[in-house]
Amino acid sequence: MQIPEIKTRLTITQVLNHYNLRPDRNHRLLCPFHEDKTPSLQVYPDTNTWTCFSTNCHAGSGDVIDFILNKEGFSKHEAIEKATKLAQS
Ligand SMILES: [Zn+2]
Repeated sequence: MQIPEIKTRLTITQVLNHYNLRPDRNHRLLCPFHEDKTPSLQVYPDTNTWTCFSTNCHAGSGDVIDFILNKEGFSKHEAIEKATKLAQS
């Protein structure tokens, strides 16, 4: 599956569900990419992107593939493979 197709088929909500991550009603989440005490990670369901606003965080922002890449410590290639599987499930 090509990246544009993954992005049309896989939502950020599906990815979060896969990792049992539940954003609050403001679409904020304890960031899984750094030691987070207050929810620093903002999820944008409309664009299927996310941003971590903590200055302690290396992850920054990204899309569904970047989320998987950071969460798993994957290479881009591995993250695309996993995203393809999730998009088809
Ligand atoms: Zn973070």
